[in-house]
Amino acid sequence: MIKRFFFERNNAIIGCMETIIEKIDKNQIDKEVIAKAGEILRRGGLVAFPTETVYGLGADALQEAAAKRTYEAKGRPSDNPLIVHIADYEDLKKVAVNIPAETDILAAHFWPGPLTMIFEKSGVVPYGTTGGLDTVAVRMPADPVARAVIRAAGGFVSAPSANTSGRPSPTTAGHVAEDLAGKIDMILDAGEVDIGLESTILDMTVDPPMILRPGAITAEMFEAVIGEVGVDETLLGDESNKAPKAPGMKYRHYAPKAQLIIVEGDLREEILAIRQLAYAAHRQGRKIGVIATNETVSFYNYGTVRNIGTRENEKTIARNLYRVLREFDEEDVEAIYSESFAVQGIGRAIMNRLEKAAGHTRVSASAVVKKQRYRRITFVSGSDSARGPMAAEILRHLDLKQEYVIDSRGMVVLFPEPANQKAEAIMKSARMTLADHTSRQFDEGNLQDDTLILTIDESEKNKIISEYGEHENVYTLNEFIGDTTAIPDPYGQPLAAYGKCYEVLNGLVIKLAEKINSFAEEE
Ligand code: AMP
Ligand code: MG
Repeated sequence: MIKRFFFERNNAIIGCMETIIEKIDKNQIDKEVIAKAGEILRRGGLVAFPTETVYGLGADALQEAAAKRTYEAKGRPSDNPLIVHIADYEDLKKVAVNIPAETDILAAHFWPGPLTMIFEKSGVVPYGTTGGLDTVAVRMPADPVARAVIRAAGGFVSAPSANTSGRPSPTTAGHVAEDLAGKIDMILDAGEVDIGLESTILDMTVDPPMILRPGAITAEMFEAVIGEVGVDETLLGDESNKAPKAPGMKYRHYAPKAQLIIVEGDLREEILAIRQLAYAAHRQGRKIGVIATNETVSFYNYGTVRNIGTRENEKTIARNLYRVLREFDEEDVEAIYSESFAVQGIGRAIMNRLEKAAGHTRVSASAVVKKQRYRRITFVSGSDSARGPMAAEILRHLDLKQEYVIDSRGMVVLFPEPANQKAEAIMKSARMTLADHTSRQFDEGNLQDDTLILTIDESEKNKIISEYGEHENVYTLNEFIGDTTAIPDPYGQPLAAYGKCYEVLNGLVIKLAEKINSFAEEE
């Protein structure tokens, strides 16, 4: 069954090309759809199809005119060569000459798969496909849909990423349609790709072979098979004047609309730096994004935060990277701060793409992290059901120059309970709420070097000291701000008593905010 979709938005702008979009199941490939794709390609048309790396924009690699159309549809500079995709190893000999001996070993290990190798080109490959070069890049993809399309097209399909030049590469058919609907003949939709980053490019015309673009097949993996390989030094350098050896690598690829800034340091420092940057942006009313990981996402409270995958398995990060960058394009954030990843294994490819997306803008976490005397402020009351949570909520609503985690604990919390209802009623009338609060017992874990402990009454301070010893961060609220106003305990009394208590706490907490804001100026 062939279904057709029309993209009026794009048609109106660029003319009237109808883009056929076909769903296709990898496990049960519809031969009719593949035959149609093959026919379009043989005629010199453009078909986007899934590969295990990213979606490719297919054209017949042996037709000069088809290459030209590819460059036009992508808006890609024509000196940026295309990769020729084959489905059968014997076909390599038809497009490449002087193939070095290690090729067989590499192909045996990594083909079909996310590896592109560069050879001297044969006469059948037009210069249009190779961007005028005498070398040709060849890959044998593993994706069954890709292989079927290549065979149906006659065996040689050039397939750069199916995105508008300069946008993040497409990892879903939806991404392809966003960029190219109305400009190409067909899109085959087989869902989300597996790897999510473009193939590793290995130049076989030099000895030892050299990695020109890092990908899922890593330097470590090559070394295990053929011994040492070179790595193009320009791949991760910042303002290197040297031209990269892979022509495409000189362009600012993979770029989101917002400025992407990579924050580098040890992970703890990166988190602190990004938190501070995000908090500063929040106070200034600027919208920013944060690229976080499964392990760190809960540490960020401000900005649009995206979990890009788990550090335990960096393949998940590779798979999500371009989607996350595209999602940020939908949010109108003005800057995106990203954590960084170790440059080893697939991390090298992830950092390479991030660096390119960032146009090499990085900041050192330790250079941006401002010293902060306290990072957490914990109010301590008896039962953690009224005065402590009220003080915490009041402080959260004040304009603080630095970001603090603000919470509360009780010295006698027998079981977790919601906040006192009268306290909540008073807070609501002041347009705040304790609805998210659950009382928690104070314990030794609360006594951290970066935590300011403020007790409501003297008795809680004394109890902490008698149980855990003297601690320099433990004060009564009054003591810390140099005040003596008694904080009444409204427990068991009418609502009005809670109202009075609120008034007192509000005055003291405002003074507290002034005091901690004065630290921010000193620091
Ligand atoms: P894409 O198809 O978007 O993944 O980009 C293909 C990339 O492969 C180009 O941007 C080049 O960097 C690289 N490439 C293709 N052919 C050659 C070649 N003959 N020599 C060096 N690099 C190449
Ligand atoms: Mg590309």
